[in-house]
Amino acid sequence: MSSSDAVSSLGQRELGRRGFLKTAGSVTAGAILYSNVGGMVSAEAASAAVATLSQAEFFDRNGSWIVKPFGLDQVTLLDGTLFTEKRDRILNLAATYSADRVLHNFRVTAGLPTPPGSTPPGGWDTATGNLRGHYSGHLITLFSQGYASTKAAIYKDKVDYIVAELGKCQEALAASGEYSHPGFLAAYPETQFVRLESFATYPTIWAPYYTCHKIMRGLLDAYLLVGNQQALDIVSKMGDWVHSRLSVLPRATLNRMWTIYIAGEYGAMNEVMADLHAITGKPEYLVTAKCFDNRLSLFDAIVNDQDVITRLHANQHVPQFLGYLRVFDRSNEPDYYTAAENFWHMVVGHRMYSHGGTSGTWPASPGLAANTNPELFQPRDNIANSIAGDGAETCTSYNMLKLTRNLFFHDPDPKYMDYYERTLLNHILGSKGDIDSTSDPMVTYFVPLSPGNKREYDNIGTCCGGTGLENHTKYQESIYFRSADSSALYVNIYVASVLNWADRGFTVTQRTDYPRESGSQLTIDGRGPLAIKLRVPSWAKDCNIQINGAAYDVAATPGTYVTVSRVWSPGDTIDVSIPFRLRIEKAIDRADTQSIFHGPILLPALSDERTYLQFSFYKDFKLDGEFSHAITPSGAANFTTNGYTLRPLYVGDAQRHHIYYRRYEPVVVFGRQDSGVPNVDQGDGVTFLDAVWEAAPFKNQGQFMSTVAKLSTDWVKRGLFTRTQRTAIVEAAANAKEDLAS
Ligand SMILES: [Zn+2]
Repeated sequence: MSSSDAVSSLGQRELGRRGFLKTAGSVTAGAILYSNVGGMVSAEAASAAVATLSQAEFFDRNGSWIVKPFGLDQVTLLDGTLFTEKRDRILNLAATYSADRVLHNFRVTAGLPTPPGSTPPGGWDTATGNLRGHYSGHLITLFSQGYASTKAAIYKDKVDYIVAELGKCQEALAASGEYSHPGFLAAYPETQFVRLESFATYPTIWAPYYTCHKIMRGLLDAYLLVGNQQALDIVSKMGDWVHSRLSVLPRATLNRMWTIYIAGEYGAMNEVMADLHAITGKPEYLVTAKCFDNRLSLFDAIVNDQDVITRLHANQHVPQFLGYLRVFDRSNEPDYYTAAENFWHMVVGHRMYSHGGTSGTWPASPGLAANTNPELFQPRDNIANSIAGDGAETCTSYNMLKLTRNLFFHDPDPKYMDYYERTLLNHILGSKGDIDSTSDPMVTYFVPLSPGNKREYDNIGTCCGGTGLENHTKYQESIYFRSADSSALYVNIYVASVLNWADRGFTVTQRTDYPRESGSQLTIDGRGPLAIKLRVPSWAKDCNIQINGAAYDVAATPGTYVTVSRVWSPGDTIDVSIPFRLRIEKAIDRADTQSIFHGPILLPALSDERTYLQFSFYKDFKLDGEFSHAITPSGAANFTTNGYTLRPLYVGDAQRHHIYYRRYEPVVVFGRQDSGVPNVDQGDGVTFLDAVWEAAPFKNQGQFMSTVAKLSTDWVKRGLFTRTQRTAIVEAAANAKEDLAS
């Protein structure tokens, strides 16, 4: 099927790329149009004379960061946890995946021979696909992360081989004289880039700079994580080629290019160009990073905190803001920082589902046209209304986590790590199927929210297949950070791991089965003063800390870090206990649409029903007001409520489940005592019973009764109850004394 056939078969219906893939199969390139920029430019393609930088040394080049991460190779995950189970399934694929497959489309494009039996990676990375090369870029990052995590030679060997062969491809492409600049390297001809400059649309072309970004990112990771110097040489030449194409285009042309749906999607090209600037110091790379400013209608609006992101393609735009933040790191121009910070709040504060994901579909309503493309940002504060179909593309969360972590480096506000933990432990862990495959990443595209929906795991060669390869092989990246002056250590996520902080002479070992258990024990090996900042998540109710077995008396406020400053000696221990507690979260646009959590862990209800389940909890409440009386453990990490099994989203299978349910509390009841009075809503989604239990825990029946009496009197005054109804409510509360006793 040709691309134009595919378009007409879709008619006017909006459809995401995922839908397009299913409908159209492979897409063929249109007519070939070569650039007349033409000719060879040789001098400026000379390799940058830069010594090998470790990832940690690279991070040190960011002078404006208050907080800095450790390199992936400085933190080792300890075996036997949820994290290593998921990671090892992907590493098994990485260990067996053929490097020649990664190279296949590049060799064909460069006119170089392919080994007998060699095939393209598949998916969107077929022999003719308009996105070919993108998945190979992710695979280079996968192998690089595998090496940084395990130091196994098998990954380094693959990276070194692929980089050397890509170098030959780049040379062959340059020697052909068919390309605008000798730095060009892709798995297809330059056509798509040229056509974008005359505003070709998707799917005539796909996303040429998106693909370019994946290849450049992979090569930068090969340099920073594996120490492959040639990878820097190749990616620098690619950067020179990008500079040669974009720096000559008028601003108006660039602005228009970046507004084109999918075709103008460029991943985080501005991030890799800023990274190249940080590594090489070449000013052209920062100029090129700014060429990607999406200034027609987006950048300035976001700087001015105007929320214009509704109906924009979510994953097309999140990485742009990641890049702006990196441009700020290199340029110190504050608008780039403001853009990233404002954008983050528009997504997390106003468009985030309970598992951390964003983007969805919604029905038509007065003043709001329907949307059927689940890859688009929903309207602001539109959660319950935007879970009509699929939603929450996994790539988008991958990129939001990158943006979040980078914002934290500038502003170590615990809110960023609350979002990070939520999304990592729910959307991302839940995106990895608990299935082994040496060819298929077995990850999700969407993690849909609609009632009775299910996850599908596959995604060879799709965008989410690519980011999925990366997600599960870098779990250690945000467990620990350090202050820029190395006087403080941040412990952000409680994951079994060993931090090797050679510069300070500290090794920190964390033992826990988090999040299958709450809390963690840290053992410090090292000597000297250090402030250890332990994260107290916003969902925490209690947090108890012991140093060497003795209680550490400190007020641990949820949503903060507790700082333990002392001179440490080898063998010192810190025990952190943050008990998980059952709680609910309400959708911001519809209070009866809720999700259940156990600590940080989202608990969907298992059911094949395709309409919302209705759950009641208050009838089971005791004076302490805990959901644990209504939601009870049922083996392993599961719970039971209202006749349904609740199970952590991180369990990676394809059972139909309900991430959101509808709260159904129609009558004012206390225990078995039914007042017969409707449990009315005061107009803002808060019902009478919500108001009563908001005041829990109650020390005794007397305190409970006085709360019910006071609130019901108030609701009578406001015309919400009659006096007769109030009498029935107070009577039911009094009669419930036995039921409410714990
Ligand atoms: Zn994706």
